[in-house]
Amino acid sequence: MAQIILSDENCEGQADLLFRELARLGFVDMLGLELKTLSQVGLRKGIDDEAIWRYCQENHCLLLTGNRTTKDGIKSLEYTIQHLVTATSLPVLTISNLKRIAPDPVYRERCAIGLAEIVMELEERHLGVTRLYPPYQFIGGIVTMAHPATGKWPRVQLIFTCHQCNVTVKFSIYYGESTVWANQSAAKLAEWARHEGHESTLHYEFYDGRERLATE
Ligand SMILES: [Zn+2]
Repeated sequence: MAQIILSDENCEGQADLLFRELARLGFVDMLGLELKTLSQVGLRKGIDDEAIWRYCQENHCLLLTGNRTTKDGIKSLEYTIQHLVTATSLPVLTISNLKRIAPDPVYRERCAIGLAEIVMELEERHLGVTRLYPPYQFIGGIVTMAHPATGKWPRVQLIFTCHQCNVTVKFSIYYGESTVWANQSAAKLAEWARHEGHESTLHYEFYDGRERLATE
C-alpha cells in the first residue's frame, strides 16, 4: 500500500525537493511513497487546519508541514492535534527549518532519512504521537551510543545553549526510546532546531533511571 505524504500549503516547494531526495536515496520505491498537494486530493485553498488533519486521519496520509505556532489561536494546527489526537492518530511531520531545505543538501538528506525512518516505524512507534520532527530522529541514537543499555532506563538530561541568541533549552529523555517525540519535549526540540547552525554547545548528563512500568 502506498503511503501518501500530503504537503501543506506552506511548504509545497520544499516538500517537492524533499521528495526528490527521498527518490534519490531509494526510499520512494522501497516504501511506496507518494507526494500530493492539498489541491491534488481535492482540498481547497485556505481550508482550516482541523479539516486537513481530519482528512489525513481518515485517508491515512501523513501531513508534511513547516513549523506553525498557536498565534492564529483556536484554529491552529497545534490546538487541533492536541485536542483531537487519539492512540491511533497519525503524526504530523514538521520540518523545523523550511528555509534550509533548498540551500542545504546535508539538512535535506537528514530530513529525508528522518522522514523515511518515521514511515518505516509508523505502526510500531509513532501512532498517537502529535508531531514528529524528521531531521531530529538521530538524537536518541547519539545519546544511546555513549552508554550501553542497561536493565534500567537512565534519564538523559540535554542542555542546549545558543551563545548567539543567549537561549538555553533543557529537557530530559529516557535513552533507548523515542518518546521524546510523543511528549512536551517536542516543543523544546523545535526550539532547539531553530538555532541550528548558530554557535552553540550541547551537554548531556546521565542519571539513574527508575524502572519502567509495563504500561509506559
Ligand atoms: Zn540561536
